[in-house]
Amino acid sequence: MRVIVIGSGIAGAATAYQIVRRGAEVVLVEAERTGPATAAGAGIVCPWTSRSAEGYPAASLAAEYYPKLIGELAEDGWRDSSFEVVGGMVVSADEGELTEAYQRVSARAAESPAAGEVRRLDPGQARELFPVLAPELGAVHVAGGGRVDGRQLRRTLLSAAAARGVQTIQGTASLTGSGVRVNGADLAADKVVVAAGAWSPELVPSVEVAPQRGQISHFGLPGVETATWPVVLPVSSHYLLAFPGSRVVAGATRETGSGFDYRITAAGQREVLDHALSIAPGLADATLLETRVGFRPATPDGLPVLGPLEDRPDVLLATGFGPGGLTLAPYAGALIAALALGERPELDLTPYRPGRFSAR
Ligand SMILES: Cc1cc2nc3c(=O)[nH]c(=O)nc-3n(C[C@H](O)[C@H](O)[C@H](O)COP(=O)(O)OP(=O)(O)OC[C@H]3O[C@@H](n4cnc5c(N)ncnc54)[C@H](O)[C@@H]3O)c2cc1C
Repeated sequence: MRVIVIGSGIAGAATAYQIVRRGAEVVLVEAERTGPATAAGAGIVCPWTSRSAEGYPAASLAAEYYPKLIGELAEDGWRDSSFEVVGGMVVSADEGELTEAYQRVSARAAESPAAGEVRRLDPGQARELFPVLAPELGAVHVAGGGRVDGRQLRRTLLSAAAARGVQTIQGTASLTGSGVRVNGADLAADKVVVAAGAWSPELVPSVEVAPQRGQISHFGLPGVETATWPVVLPVSSHYLLAFPGSRVVAGATRETGSGFDYRITAAGQREVLDHALSIAPGLADATLLETRVGFRPATPDGLPVLGPLEDRPDVLLATGFGPGGLTLAPYAGALIAALALGERPELDLTPYRPGRFSAR
């Protein structure tokens, strides 16, 4: 059995690793596009706080799956995944919003062991955990919230996949009737997995995935130990999180209709800074280290695209992860690996089928 995986973002890397672990031959093709989502992604893995009902079931299973993946990598000798459980906090100055968040998060946590304990924090307690936070913000804290450095996890997955024999080819792939064409050569495959992120429609025009630009800024707080700070989620699409090395990350714009316009814009930078400083005024004196730009592979219904093409059952899609791919894609990789090898995946993939767009 030979599988070709197109794209080596988090989705392609995870899928290739899971397929090779199951004993099939894997070739990974990577085009090195500008602005892959994985290299810009913030890295929040905390689905229990999300306000999306449709996307939640898969995201919670994906969060439950993370420790399993980290265990598999460790079994293979790869311990530098960067994934850490640091906790997550929904923050607000509005009691009503916090009460609503507490009820929603508690109900979900009751069914999802990885969420851990959920508790209310007063503003002083919230600031003890995230010292640069605005003093009026109370919080709902969920112990199981995690974060991951997408670049690092991708590197680790690719190293682990290579150590198990996955071959990577640099080049831009296109589909043929029996496999893939890359660098002028035709490669035959039993299955092809398209994990080409926002570029997937170039390979499969019927798939409704479009680039949604995200601009996200990194700050340095010299001399401050940030490694254990929790993820901070205000009641908006903006957020803050921290990494080891005195680094705080604030995101992000969600620019639908951006196309592949790879630029840091004045309005985008202002939006990110305004939100970051209103939630965390203690960042005012931080060093602005860099702003990253990435193209989320967004779908019209906000759900990922997972499974075979109706008219090409040998072609499987693993894309459309939108704003949640660093959470979802490692789990999706395991589901797609099962499908590629003719096994039944543990999750019913009907809501995510590629053909759903043609039915609209
Ligand atoms: C600013 C920002 C913040 C985010 N924050 C979070 C977060 O906190 N939590 C979370 O869960 N998710 C987050 N995400 C979402 C997450 O990053 C994405 O959903 C995920 O990285 C998508 O991964 P992917 O592998 O599908 O796509 P990509 O990472 O874009 O990878 C696609 C790859 O395919 C390659 N490719 C394309 N065409 C071809 C071709 N023809 N041949 C070969 N290779 C090809 C590209 O070069 C690229 O490397 C964020 C995204 C952004 C932009």
